[in-house]
Amino acid sequence: MSEMRRVPLSKVFVNDEVREAGLRAMNSGWYILAKECEAFEAELAAYVGRKEAVLCSSWTTGALMLHHAMGVCPGDEILVPSHTAFPSIESMIHRGARPVFVDIDETYCIDVDQLESAMSERTVGILPVHLYGHPANMDGIFLAAKKHGLWVVEDCAQAFGAQYRGQTVGSIAGAGVFSFFPSKNLTVMGDGGCITTNDSALAKKLRMLRDHGRSSKYVHDFVGYNFRFNEVQAAIGRVELRNIDKLNDHRREIAARYNERLEGVVRIPPERPWARHVYHMYVIATGRRDELAEFLKGKGIGTGIHYPVANHQQPAMRKLYSDLPRLPKTEEAVTQILSLPIYGELPLEDVDYVCDAILEFFGKK
Ligand SMILES: *Cc1c(COP(=O)(O)O)cnc(C)c1O
Repeated sequence: MSEMRRVPLSKVFVNDEVREAGLRAMNSGWYILAKECEAFEAELAAYVGRKEAVLCSSWTTGALMLHHAMGVCPGDEILVPSHTAFPSIESMIHRGARPVFVDIDETYCIDVDQLESAMSERTVGILPVHLYGHPANMDGIFLAAKKHGLWVVEDCAQAFGAQYRGQTVGSIAGAGVFSFFPSKNLTVMGDGGCITTNDSALAKKLRMLRDHGRSSKYVHDFVGYNFRFNEVQAAIGRVELRNIDKLNDHRREIAARYNERLEGVVRIPPERPWARHVYHMYVIATGRRDELAEFLKGKGIGTGIHYPVANHQQPAMRKLYSDLPRLPKTEEAVTQILSLPIYGELPLEDVDYVCDAILEFFGKK
C-alpha cells in the first residue's frame, strides 16, 4: 500500500540561495544592524513604496515602539477588529491604551460602517488589519478617520505584497507594521518585523527607540528598548524578498483553484474588485467545520483555525474590561472558519487532493 499523502497547512520557503545568504552573513563578522540590515531596509522600503522601512525584532515590538513614538498614552482608545491575531492589541495595552473592538465585514476585515458608533471622546486612532492577506477597506477607514481627526496605522502582518486599489499595503496609512514570523508570506527564519512610513523624523525616532534611545555609542537621548534586528536574518530576508512576488502569485493560483472547485460547497473567501489578495491564509467557512477538519486530518491534510477565540472574548480581555461588546459576525465566523493548506510552493496536485477530500466529505463526488 502506498503511504498516505501529507499536505501541511504551510511551509517556509528555503533554497540554496537562502542557505548561502545566511552563511555569508554568519561569516562576515557583523551580527547586529550592519550592512545586511541597511540593505534589507532599503529594499523593503522600495518594495512597499515608502521612504523608510525600520527593521525590528517582531510586529509586536514594532507596534509597541510605534505607539510609543506616536505618543499613545493611558486613556486613549484605538479602534481595532476583534477578529485578528491577539498580538494586534497587546502593544497598545502596554501603552495604557484600550482596544475598542469592532465587528467584521464579508472580507473578515474591520467593518467600516461600524467605526463611528464605536468612537468616543477618547478615540485617537484606527488599526485596521489586512487579515488573511486581504486589504481592509481603506477609503472607508480614512473617511471616518478624517472626519474625527484620528490617525490610521495598518497591521500588515499577514499581507506582505497585498494591494489596495493598486497601492501596496504598508504605503497607504501614516505607517504600516509587518511581521516576518515564519508562517507569514515573507519570512526571515525566525522572529522579525518592520515599520514602513514616509515620515523620516518618525523613522529616526524608531531607529533610536529600538536601540536604547541612543544618539551615539554611549549617549542616550531617551529611554528606549532593545528591539534590534540581526544580520543573518536580514541576509535571508533579502533573498525571500526577491522571491515574494513569485510565491504570492502562486498563492493566488492556488486560491483560484480552490475557488473554482469549492464554490457552492463551502463559503469561499471573497476578494473585492479593488483588492489584490495575497492569501496568507485561504479561509473557507462551513457549519460543519469541526467535522470537516477531523475528516481532512484523517486524510493527512493539515488545517487551522485563525482564530477560534475572538479577542473580545479572550480571558485576558475579560479580566481587563467589564463592558466588552457583542460582535455577531465575528462570533459566528469563529465557529465556521477553517484555513486550508496554502504556501508559496504548494503543488496544485496537493490542492486538488484537498479539494477531492472536501467534495467527498460533502458527498459531492
Ligand atoms: C502574526 C501577527 C502579528 C504579530 O506578529 P509578531 O511578529 O509575531 O509579533 C500581529 N498581527 C497579525 C494580524 C498577525 O498575523
